[in-house]
Amino acid sequence: MKALSIKNLSKTYRNGMQALKEINLDVEQGDFFALLGPNGAGKSTTIGVITSLVTKSTGSIQVFDTDLDSDAEQAKSYIGLVPQEFNFNGFEQVKHILVAQAGYYGMPASQAEPRADELLKQLGLWEKRDTPSRSLSGGMKRRLMIARALVHNPRLLILDEPTAGVDIELRRSMWTFLRKINAEGTTIILTTHYLEEAESLCRNIAIIDKGQIIENTDMKSLLNRL
Ligand code: ADP
Ligand code: ADP
Repeated sequence: MKALSIKNLSKTYRNGMQALKEINLDVEQGDFFALLGPNGAGKSTTIGVITSLVTKSTGSIQVFDTDLDSDAEQAKSYIGLVPQEFNFNGFEQVKHILVAQAGYYGMPASQAEPRADELLKQLGLWEKRDTPSRSLSGGMKRRLMIARALVHNPRLLILDEPTAGVDIELRRSMWTFLRKINAEGTTIILTTHYLEEAESLCRNIAIIDKGQIIENTDMKSLLNRL
């Protein structure tokens, strides 16, 4: 099954900027997929459209065979998003952020509590569970964003530039964690402008430039040609 299927997707912002031009992209279930491109290429716009944060102009998107236009709720429930920017209410406590997010997806508290605890332990945030999120370090905030994206057990995890501005140690531990959840069955798509990051993690890759997919192949073939 395909985790994601994008057909003829275009996006023109209201100011006339044509950010995506007839994009086609397929990601298989279980894949670890990189969307690589320079700043301004259209990576965040693509992710915005997949996650319903940005309205598309034309085209269609299916997430695990569910059409985003006809059943947005279902499609959204399959996806966990780790955005680029830290976007929490800083006064809210760490664990509460996760439990509230689970509730937003309709998970009962009896499931949300243990799921939140599990993620807090896995991501090294257990000691901070009662701390307001604004007093976390930058690295902890990143990990909290990952925990929040995973709390409802999404089949597809999407990360927008996950290690931009992250130090080497945290980058390594994030990579290890992502490899683990991918091995356990979660499909992962990340955007990056570092080939090194894509190379280290991903099996398949699309390269986007000026709103167009200019390459879509497996990582080995790409590296053989470089
Ligand atoms: P949509 O077409 O999805 O409704 P808009 O064109 O209304 O999106 O833009 C959404 C928001 O992003 C607006 O507040 C706009 O000012 C802001 N914005 C405009 N230009 C840029 C840019 N180059 N990068 C990021 N955000 C921008
Ligand atoms: P990337 O994530 O690859 O850096 P983006 O998807 O953020 O690229 O941006 C693609 C293009 O669309 C850029 O030229 C950017 O300035 C423009 N853009 C992004 N968001 C908006 C917006 N809300 N309104 C207008 N233009 C935007």
